[in-house]
Amino acid sequence: MLYSVSTALNNKERNKLTHEFDAVIVGAGGAGLYAALEASKTAKTAVLSKLYPMRSHTGAAQGGIGAALGNVDEDSPEWHAFDTVKGGDYLVDQQAAKILAEEAVQAVYDLENRGLPFSRTPEGKIDQRRFGGHTHNFGKGPVRRSCYAADRTGHMILQTLYQQCIKNDVHFYDEFQVVEVIMDGTRVAGLVTFELATGEIHIFRAKAVLFATGGFGRMFSITSNALANTGDGPAVLARAGIPLEDMEFFQFHPTGILGMGILITEGVRGEGGILKNNKGERFMERYAPTMLDLAPRDMVSRAIITEIQEGRGMRGDRKINDYVMLDASHLGRDTVYKKIPDIADFCKTYLDVDPAEEAMPVQPTAHYAMGGIPTDVDGRVCTDDVVYEGLYAAGEAACVSVHGANRLGTNSLVDLVVYGRRAGRHVAEFVKGADMPALPDGAGDHAREKIAKLKGLKGEHPGPLFEHMQEVMMEKVGVYRNDGDMSQAVNEVQKLRERLQGVSVQDANSSFNQEVLSILELENLLDLSLITAASALNRTESRGAHSRKDYPDRDDPNWLKHTLAYLKDDEVTIDYKKVDTSIWEPKPRKY
Ligand SMILES: Cc1cc2nc3c(=O)[nH]c(=O)nc-3n(C[C@H](O)[C@H](O)[C@H](O)COP(=O)(O)OP(=O)(O)OC[C@H]3O[C@@H](n4cnc5c(N)ncnc54)[C@H](O)[C@@H]3O)c2cc1C
Repeated sequence: MLYSVSTALNNKERNKLTHEFDAVIVGAGGAGLYAALEASKTAKTAVLSKLYPMRSHTGAAQGGIGAALGNVDEDSPEWHAFDTVKGGDYLVDQQAAKILAEEAVQAVYDLENRGLPFSRTPEGKIDQRRFGGHTHNFGKGPVRRSCYAADRTGHMILQTLYQQCIKNDVHFYDEFQVVEVIMDGTRVAGLVTFELATGEIHIFRAKAVLFATGGFGRMFSITSNALANTGDGPAVLARAGIPLEDMEFFQFHPTGILGMGILITEGVRGEGGILKNNKGERFMERYAPTMLDLAPRDMVSRAIITEIQEGRGMRGDRKINDYVMLDASHLGRDTVYKKIPDIADFCKTYLDVDPAEEAMPVQPTAHYAMGGIPTDVDGRVCTDDVVYEGLYAAGEAACVSVHGANRLGTNSLVDLVVYGRRAGRHVAEFVKGADMPALPDGAGDHAREKIAKLKGLKGEHPGPLFEHMQEVMMEKVGVYRNDGDMSQAVNEVQKLRERLQGVSVQDANSSFNQEVLSILELENLLDLSLITAASALNRTESRGAHSRKDYPDRDDPNWLKHTLAYLKDDEVTIDYKKVDTSIWEPKPRKY
């Protein structure tokens, strides 16, 4: 044996570290907080979060939340639902999109009533602006649908929901990292968590568990995502035998700050900003004659890469850093500093560029996971055949699926509030009639042993594995894909997963051991990278954000179906799930 740390606990210790709630919500972003708010109306509810709630990535959301209020332009939820389905390249479940668009309107007014300080029109209504792929009359032209609070919309949503949760006596366990889910067959029984402050393993026993752990853009080297976006929820569930849906669809946002990936919101183009190549041409005229710079993100990202590959981009310091320009200087200082003040700040801080005076250098940045934990419209985790009892998911970690193959801007915040709320309501009902599940003997022992092993080994540092994974995923499973690259990605990631078995920490302290956390997060990202690359390799067509040079066309007869990927014995096996096309017949996408 390479290490010799006793991980056994006596009964007293076990009791101290075991907690019991009706409902446990994992994640304190917009989805988790909305779910907690609803669940706590009847259920004794805890929120576990590896971050302080206000640091959740929702707080970084800039551009807005889409809802057909019709405050500025004529609008209807039906147009919003249609845009969502078409934007998602028809892989969207259409009744789910209809619910999203219809309930968005009330959800925005609810947020307003709970105190969210939206930007206003001169008459005092919630102001709205344009965003990519949002149109009036089923694609006739852009519509102003995004409700916003300057470029701090997500921050305001988090503040509003957190205050309401505190008011409702939700119990918060901050800096608790969920590392395992406890299942009894297809029934959830609880969670195994790591407390950062003490290094101790706590068990949460619960009638219902909801995962709202956010995205996993950190698997790519250039990303808009926060450091904590490591996909813990989907990875923990995948290792427990639950499939993940549509993982091949990862969105690249067209406008990240060059080299850093920090997001420049689509709101800049919504306010009239224009993308230009090295000849000063508005190149989107060639790719999307009606929607121009406000075409959906997958199309704009491909247009940028095509301009660069055909020699019309600007040269960066490395090939991976070639770029184009986003020009907002013609909008005037007043608009720039009132409508996009944080973006102006980022550009001045990181680039020494004042967007009111000069264009911003941008390149596509890994941004949003369309795929995730499969759920129905009440947030219950399920496949066509199995409902996992008591287990729920919402937000970016989940796949309802309302984003299909490509999410429209502003539709994630809507997804959080509409489906976070629906899932929370279902949890509140479910726990009323449910028994508290029994815990298996030795729950938590596996996690304790795993951490003791990391401390006991003298192994490799995880840093180089992390960087290698990010580069492989960026270069081989990025905006454009092909068979050879993706096969290499699967092999490389598998080798990294093997090497992970030999990594260790240098700091063996128990208190605030960030090294342990980062290794657990790397394990999650590697598992999700494998599932993403394998799902992408399997889908031999191009649709939405999944664009293959070797299969350039969408292939509805063979591929109008959701992928369900299982991680079993270190291999990915693939199954499928039906797509709901009950409202609109799939058509080719033109913008
Ligand atoms: C820079 C940026 C700008 C964006 N702008 C917009 C926009 O304008 N409009 C829009 O619609 N969308 C936008 N998006 C997308 C949107 O913000 C996210 O998809 C959404 O906020 C995700 O919310 P969430 O509640 O699912 O997760 P998050 O807000 O990411 O929260 C995840 C939570 O899970 C917790 N957690 C994670 N793992 C664990 C674990 N193992 N144990 C315990 N807790 C855990 C974290 O502590 C955190 O509280 C933007 C995204 C980015 C990155």
